[in-house]
Amino acid sequence: MTRVLVVEDDPQLVRALEINLKARTYAVDAAVDGATARRLASARPPDVVLLDLGLPDMDGLDLIGWLRGFSRAPILVVSARQASDEKVAALDAGADDYIPKPFSMDELLARLRAAARRTRPTDGDEQPAIIETPGFTLDLPAKKAQRAGRPVRLTPTEWHLLEVLVRHRGRLVSQQQLLGEVWGPTHRTRTNYLRVYMAQLRRKLEPDPSHPRHLITAPGMGYRFEE
Ligand code: CA
Repeated sequence: MTRVLVVEDDPQLVRALEINLKARTYAVDAAVDGATARRLASARPPDVVLLDLGLPDMDGLDLIGWLRGFSRAPILVVSARQASDEKVAALDAGADDYIPKPFSMDELLARLRAAARRTRPTDGDEQPAIIETPGFTLDLPAKKAQRAGRPVRLTPTEWHLLEVLVRHRGRLVSQQQLLGEVWGPTHRTRTNYLRVYMAQLRRKLEPDPSHPRHLITAPGMGYRFEE
């Protein structure tokens, strides 16, 4: 379910948004000020944010900056401020779209759907196209790897494993999740597959495979990709 954080101090508009979003099976958190928005966004990270720039306790632009510190969820600014420099400032701060008030509910929902759709394939995370480490480079869309300027050939399974780790880069991915995503749910206990394939990936990519810096093992738990 897509979770929408609505940050808006007009109670009637919040109510209308809640009714319309819930009717379309979105989960909705509503905040009437910036402090509540921060608390809700920390407790339950949103998939999409609808944000009014004019908040009672802070400038919406500052809230965009704060959200961008940890979240790549699309931010749709909904604002009565018409000045184009406000719009540019919102986009510069990290907003994805700008919807002037008054708006039609249908248009807002269409833009929300579009924003949610853009993020879904990557599970809420931005998928970078190119990953560059000191030792190797990955071009994910082209499925090309280079180490020290030379192409490295990876098998489809190695790519798949690498892509799952890169998608969650910096975070631990459990053995079960990796096995489930790459080999399928019936292989969730085959941790030996992971050992074999991770060793192959390290041999092909890590500058010093016996002291990996990018493809990290958390013993008994899972693996992590560090850039
Ligand atoms: Ca307002």
